[in-house]
Amino acid sequence: MAVTASTHNEPLICNDETMRYRPMGKTGYMVSALSFGCMRLKEDKALNEKMISRAVDLGVNYFETTRYYLEGTCQHRTAPGLKEKTAGVIVSGKESISPDKSAYLFRREIERQLDILGLDHFKFFQVGWFTWQNMPHLLKRGGVFDAIRRAQDEGLIKFIGFTGHDTPENFMRCLEIGLFDSITVTYNVLNRSYEPVIQRAGELGVAVVAMSPVGGGVLAYPATRLPEAVAMDLPTPALALRFVLSNPNVSTACSGMNTIEMLEENVKTVRDFDPSTANFEEMCTGLVRLREKLGERFCTGCRYCADCREGLDIARLMDIWQNWKAFGLEEWTRDTMRSLPEEKQPARCSACGDCEDKCPNDVAILERLAQLGELM
Ligand code: SF4
Ligand code: SF4
Repeated sequence: MAVTASTHNEPLICNDETMRYRPMGKTGYMVSALSFGCMRLKEDKALNEKMISRAVDLGVNYFETTRYYLEGTCQHRTAPGLKEKTAGVIVSGKESISPDKSAYLFRREIERQLDILGLDHFKFFQVGWFTWQNMPHLLKRGGVFDAIRRAQDEGLIKFIGFTGHDTPENFMRCLEIGLFDSITVTYNVLNRSYEPVIQRAGELGVAVVAMSPVGGGVLAYPATRLPEAVAMDLPTPALALRFVLSNPNVSTACSGMNTIEMLEENVKTVRDFDPSTANFEEMCTGLVRLREKLGERFCTGCRYCADCREGLDIARLMDIWQNWKAFGLEEWTRDTMRSLPEEKQPARCSACGDCEDKCPNDVAILERLAQLGELM
């Protein structure tokens, strides 16, 4: 296993035989194109240890963790596999921010997470569940940023990032402040809402960690319309990973994995893919065309229809319908509909018509509910 030089004299592992590497923004690190989201690890201690260790051996050098995932056990499940192997990898930690989060509390959390992971410092630490609204709490005197700067001065943290689910507009503003070295956002072939933010991050030299590249498991199902749209005749999970990595501004695709087979398959997908051969613009055009086929009456998730008298989550059902029709996710749609509780099923609709009256986009809600019902 070779090493690559970093700006911190702490080389990251690099296994060119099994993995590809991409710049981590302006940090000087070369990060593995596939990174490991540790939020889906199972309760199987032996499997977790084997899988994390195997990932490092295959050249994965970024592991995303926080104490809060998996009911507080995420970092405990991750640490054993990294024993004696932390020197050449980035293990990111994450702590939330809120109006009452003081520098003291934030610092205590950094130390706690280091302790669980058996690390003496974080190469990346993230301000999690961040929003533009929380910026004053980050920057106020005695607030979170004081803790971060002190931890950086003391060598407990090298770089900082943020992550969350705020609007793309607000995340753009967060980027422009110029405080962060990385941003971690949801990005996949189904959800490209942060694409402009990712582009801006690239311009600013901010590393981009793409969360949910396989759509949080949705794209583990066949999406029959995607291969033609993005001109890749591949199984859906492989196609999804390759799409994300075709975006030159993405540093790494961070996938939550919990079997050795999944890990090895993803590593192979990344290794066998040369992003320089991909035409990202054409792929995006193909995806736009898929959406356009749904026509003008498109559900934007505005939720003006939220108070259904029968308690249906209409926006969620419309989103399921759109994924089915636009991407050909029929099997996923069937399984998802079957997993909904009885009281959330389209059959509960009493056809009062209130939702259609409120919908600004004139979505044919009743017709789509009927189609979902028929599919089951
Ligand atoms: S038409 Fe059906 S889905 Fe729409 S508000 Fe009435 S009961 Fe709910
Ligand atoms: S009101 Fe229309 S566009 Fe808005 S969430 Fe409901 S169905 Fe979608």
